Amino acid sequence: MERILGAKKHIALVAHDNKKDDLLDWARFNRGTLSRHFLFATGTTGDLLSRELDLPVARFLSGPLGGDQQIGAAIAEAKIDFLIFFWDPLEPQPHDPDIKALLRLAVLYNIPTASNRASADFIISSPLMQVEYPLQAPDVGRYHRSRASRDEQR
Ligand code: PGA
Repeated sequence: MERILGAKKHIALVAHDNKKDDLLDWARFNRGTLSRHFLFATGTTGDLLSRELDLPVARFLSGPLGGDQQIGAAIAEAKIDFLIFFWDPLEPQPHDPDIKALLRLAVLYNIPTASNRASADFIISSPLMQVEYPLQAPDVGRYHRSRASRDEQR
């Protein structure tokens, strides 16, 4: 199955507390490019970004309050095309299961994902950012057929 990502992408940005400065710095540097796309973020990250960039940022709930799960659901509903998620590899997070679920859905739906500054640099500077892109999405029909045939065998 294929879904066309428009030239103007729907980008979700999330940063854990120890990574927020890093994300803000990266976003400031890339403000021009980011201004050509639709921006989304978890609560606190979104507040900081909209203030820093003076750009509209649609806000989900704060991550620990369900924001990561909301972004995961938006990915499943094809409302988010990109995930920039600076997660903290050195601090345990209370919402660790939600983080894992979000990263799982990003992989499942084949969403380009950057988890640190270097990967975000490579993604944002890709020529594919400016054009339509045919994203290979999971084949939902095939998934249902294989489940149905498994159920029949029981
Ligand atoms: P926050 O959430 O932007 O509300 O801080 C991010 C997170 O911890 O997942």
